Amino acid sequence: MIRFDDYVPVVGEAVTDELRLLADRLHGTTVCHVNSTPVGGGVAEILTRMVPLLNQLGVPTDWQVIKGGDRFYAATKKFHNALHGVSQEITEDDFAVYRSTQEDNLAQLNLNSDIVFVHDPQPAGLVARKAALGNRWIWRCHIDLSNPDPRVWTFLAPLVEQYDATVFSAPAFARRLGVRQVLIAPSIDPLSNKNRDLPPETIDAVLTRLDIPRDKPLITQVSRFDRLKDPIGVIEAFRLARAYVDGRLLLVGGSADDDPEGKQVLAEVRERVAGADDVLVLELPPTSHVEINAIQRASTVILQKSLKEGFGLTVSEALWKGKPVIAGAVGGIPLQITHRHTGILTHSVEGTAYWIKQLINEPDYARRLGENGREHVREHFLLTRHLRDYLLLFLSLNYPGEDFICL
Ligand code: UDP
Repeated sequence: MIRFDDYVPVVGEAVTDELRLLADRLHGTTVCHVNSTPVGGGVAEILTRMVPLLNQLGVPTDWQVIKGGDRFYAATKKFHNALHGVSQEITEDDFAVYRSTQEDNLAQLNLNSDIVFVHDPQPAGLVARKAALGNRWIWRCHIDLSNPDPRVWTFLAPLVEQYDATVFSAPAFARRLGVRQVLIAPSIDPLSNKNRDLPPETIDAVLTRLDIPRDKPLITQVSRFDRLKDPIGVIEAFRLARAYVDGRLLLVGGSADDDPEGKQVLAEVRERVAGADDVLVLELPPTSHVEINAIQRASTVILQKSLKEGFGLTVSEALWKGKPVIAGAVGGIPLQITHRHTGILTHSVEGTAYWIKQLINEPDYARRLGENGREHVREHFLLTRHLRDYLLLFLSLNYPGEDFICL
């Protein structure tokens, strides 16, 4: 059970008082979040915590998930990759199945709230109902749109332009649009099972139950099995580093309902590590929050070697646990990691291997990176900051075109 008052000792009363005040000024404005999966991936992770807290603050908030068939999710995964700038074969049929799935969902969903808050491209077309409903709509993009495939963006942009406001995670993702754009970074919840402090006995028990030996330093990446998270690059980097340091690589992943590629990527990963006794591949159900928390806390180094990334919540999760993180310098990751201050940014397999070796060999340096990273997350990427940004955004919708608002 999430209780808003529990955040007071973590972030201080000034922060929680301000959130109450802002929520109060919304005078019961109702909000409905819409996305494409109830579990798996960063968006579901955030909404699971954000929605109950908004309700406790007196902002009646609902969360609905669109439904689609296999063809819809295959098409939207291609859109997702293409918007990240990865070349894809997209057919007219993909666009047609997208349109018809929006229609099907419009017949099912209740979108009557004062504010409809739509996440990512999968449900973006629901905005067709906006004019009839006369309410306010926000589209939040969680992916890196800095170099989108023009065909998919040309399809999506006219939908996005119908919203009252758009939200991006980093300045580089903002596009030339005729509607307001707001920059709001994602966040992690310090009190969730994924991130709360765990006693050493719990960490030990989880690792024992999952059969993860602790005889060597653990080098871990937690990610959906997705090519853009570069699990194969992680394995190659680890193999290079293993020539110099001892350690065990742990690849932890699960699936998301809206990601049909996971199984295939997992099979490729398993094939690549077959027979290696220093690499563990662990598939966990999407509710394994305490397990992931324990694994991150038991790790010596955490990797997030993404080739493309919206934000990378796993980076904030690891930094919050005081861990040294080596991550790809892509998408929203550089917001979280300043190279050699709050972590390590890399651009290649070789660079990742070099830094694995360095951080295993220099534990004091690794510890300092982790400490700095934790403070950086405390200041910028906790759920309370995110809540404040959303409340301000909701309030600002009542004052279109105004730069200053007196509450
Ligand atoms: N996650 C999880 N189980 C897994 C893989 C990932 O619970 O097997 C969580 C991870 O801890 C993080 C989220 O899913 O909270 C992934 O968010 P991120 O922004 O890193 O990537 P996305 O999947 O949204 O691209």
